[in-house]
Amino acid sequence: MDFNRHLLPNIILSLQISCCRVLPSVCSPTSIYSATLTILKLMYACVVSIRHEIERDLTRLGGDLMGPIRQMSDKVTNPKFVQYNHWGRRIDSLETSEGWRFMRDTAIKEGYINIPYARKYGEYSRIYGFLKNMIMTGDFHVIMCPLGMTDGTARVIELVGSEAVKRTILPRLISRDPSIAYTSGQWMTERPGGSDVSLTETVATSSSTSSTMGDMYTLDGFKWFSSATEADMAIALARTGSQEQGSRALSLFLVPLRLPEQGGPSSPLENGIEIHRLKNKIGTVGVPTAELSLNHTKAWLLGPLNGGVKAIAPVLNITRIHSAIHSIVRLVQGGSTLLKDVPLYVSSLAKVSLLYRALTHMTFGTVVLLGKSECGTATKEEEARLRLLTPMAKAFTAQQAPSAMEECMAALGAQGYMEETGIGR
Ligand SMILES: Cc1cc2nc3c(=O)[nH]c(=O)nc-3n(C[C@H](O)[C@H](O)[C@H](O)COP(=O)(O)OP(=O)(O)OC[C@H]3O[C@@H](n4cnc5c(N)ncnc54)[C@H](O)[C@@H]3O)c2cc1C
Repeated sequence: MDFNRHLLPNIILSLQISCCRVLPSVCSPTSIYSATLTILKLMYACVVSIRHEIERDLTRLGGDLMGPIRQMSDKVTNPKFVQYNHWGRRIDSLETSEGWRFMRDTAIKEGYINIPYARKYGEYSRIYGFLKNMIMTGDFHVIMCPLGMTDGTARVIELVGSEAVKRTILPRLISRDPSIAYTSGQWMTERPGGSDVSLTETVATSSSTSSTMGDMYTLDGFKWFSSATEADMAIALARTGSQEQGSRALSLFLVPLRLPEQGGPSSPLENGIEIHRLKNKIGTVGVPTAELSLNHTKAWLLGPLNGGVKAIAPVLNITRIHSAIHSIVRLVQGGSTLLKDVPLYVSSLAKVSLLYRALTHMTFGTVVLLGKSECGTATKEEEARLRLLTPMAKAFTAQQAPSAMEECMAALGAQGYMEETGIGR
């Protein structure tokens, strides 16, 4: 391989991007988009006929990121949670930071969720959406967490939602207007375990009433790891049969948290949802992840009774791809221009660059298949490949990225280990 021609330019550009984040005075490409060769190549490979229109938007976004958006990124701090007021009354007041709300609203306006559902570019819309996602990830903290779950929820509703839910909830989940857009969490994990949902303890009881939105149930249980607690709604698994039936007796529910305009509650407490505490997680400080108890919480059945695991699968698959993108983007965040003059070091960074490119192509290969599947143009073989590659891409990127990331952090010396530089997240 012609090392210099193929790898060095990409490494140097990757380093330039990261230097701008850590050492703004050293270098200043005008747009993250045009400085990221791997993304440019993906565009050339995948989206020939519509490339120019998309490129204009990505170049503009890349420029915005270097300016006003990055400034707000530093304002993302821990959410504030107050359980009781000064009279001892339970209030469960949850307030996310100004920076976090700005990131959410900006991502919504950029079409983070809207692009793949508006489908202006057919099956290529997914590639366009995830390219935008990839460019944004470095500065948007973990906004992909609530918005990735919102993306997955939109797909679930598209596939199994009632006509009323499709008409009233779906347009808001995919809206580009932050003043009316909804976000959604997903609640699966419980204390007995997350990977194995057959142990789910939360019980759903039919209230023998139904509305156009769906059959009404009440949920009682404890959800142990629930991100996006600030969301307007969540979709949750709960038991509609005996414990012995395992995952065959789980159904999916749409739980309103803050949906007054749909006749729902204006706060989670109004719907019997108590926040026990916020999780003290490593790194992902902006997003409120909570332990929740559900006490006669009203919810609508979403999809077929006892078909919950199958119904929620699109959330798992779509968030897996969001997660894979998040892992690979971390690899373009470390470095220093001076190290380009040290051949031994460049060779180890070359390995990082190669890994970054390989993981990016693997992930976007999966995105291409997802776009086809959602637009009904995938062959049977492509559907099978999508099923195989989705969990693989998520797991492989999450496993490979951290050690390469460590290499990038070390390349920045002590600065690579400072919270102030933003490298930690
Ligand atoms: C930042 C963060 C945010 C989260 N947000 C949410 C959320 O919003 N909603 C939600 O529902 N959950 C959320 N979770 C929880 C997450 O989904 C679970 O942690 C995950 O499903 C794993 O479950 P567990 O922690 O119980 O680990 P376990 O299920 O006990 O797994 C422990 C280890 O064993 C491995 N393992 C388990 N079963 C097998 C098997 N059969 N074969 C091979 N290996 C296996 C797992 O891969 C893992 O490495 C979040 C977690 C984190 C860290």
